Amino acid sequence: MEKEKIFVVQPFLPPLEEYETYLKEIWNNKILTNQGPLHNKFAEVLKSSINAEDITLFCNGHLALECALKALDLKSGCEIITTPFTFVSTTHAISNCGYKPVFCDIKLDDYTIDEEKIECLINENTVAIMPVHVYGYPCEVKKINALAKKYNLKVIYDAAHAFGVKVDNESILNYGDISMISFHATKLFHTIEGGMLVHNSDLKNKLDTLKNFGIVDKDDIVEQGINAKMNEFQAAMGLANMPYLNNIIARRKEITEKYRALLKIDGIKLVHEKNNIQYNYAYFPILIDEKKYGITRDELYDILMKNNIFSRKYFYPLTSDAVCYKKNDKNNLNNAKYVADRILTLPLYPNMSDENIKKICEIIINRGENE
Ligand SMILES: *Cc1c(COP(=O)(O)O)cnc(C)c1O
Repeated sequence: MEKEKIFVVQPFLPPLEEYETYLKEIWNNKILTNQGPLHNKFAEVLKSSINAEDITLFCNGHLALECALKALDLKSGCEIITTPFTFVSTTHAISNCGYKPVFCDIKLDDYTIDEEKIECLINENTVAIMPVHVYGYPCEVKKINALAKKYNLKVIYDAAHAFGVKVDNESILNYGDISMISFHATKLFHTIEGGMLVHNSDLKNKLDTLKNFGIVDKDDIVEQGINAKMNEFQAAMGLANMPYLNNIIARRKEITEKYRALLKIDGIKLVHEKNNIQYNYAYFPILIDEKKYGITRDELYDILMKNNIFSRKYFYPLTSDAVCYKKNDKNNLNNAKYVADRILTLPLYPNMSDENIKKICEIIINRGENE
């Protein structure tokens, strides 16, 4: 028998008949895309669940991020301060929209942008800050907001990982000028592919126009827009998944706690959880200090793979080390480099069995010996 393969994620799927109920609605409506009834219903559900002033849905998170940048009308060619410790989408969005990504170092305690190191990167060409709530760990939103106010900068959060995260009982998505969520199949809550921007109502018309080729009505094209609309099948998946969100997060929490209890090992560093934050347990990153643990991250990654366990080196390489952005990398990124070389995210999804969690931890504890 082939050994079971354990991947870093397994997409959540709702019961098929529940998805089919929505498919029947699509067949009845004969509307497949362009702000259809399911799209609008899903948007309402999301807006009230986040308690947001307004939201806009997109076909994916990346194009949502590009539309966010276009909607803010920032001076072209200027600089945006961001983190290199992220999925490359963040940096590509800045660059594709004609801005220069300026990389800021991260903190060692939760891997988010170091808010104390942002100010020295601000100059007369800086127009915005694009931090990432990486792994769903919230950035220091209040300090970043104060900096943005002081220098008149926009703040766009790449909140791709942060669906369901709250700080002091308030959704993390309500901070900054705009926050972007990804509903990609590998994310904790998904619409197959999909994305959302959370923003003030004054941006609503502009974002709706931008995602539909810049067309406002049959006579008027007002923006240099793109096609980034969420279709009805995506909205149907979102609606079908929504009732399971709390259970998904609860099971992820349980798995995270089991990992934490089993992985009390010298040389394996876990992120310390804070009391005022409601986490979504989107990822389980471990940091390997090879001097104390005995073997390197890459060696552990290979050992796990030999055992059919496919962890991921999220986020390695740094986007500042991508060939296309290397020329931008002039700042001190020591923490980001240190973390990118040592981080490993372990498998985590609601369907994971307790035996598999134990098995993974045993391999990590034994460093692959006595297999
Ligand atoms: C997934 C992800 C994106 C892009 O979202 P898509 O929906 O896949 O386009 C952007 N930023 C980060 C940090 C991500 O993890």
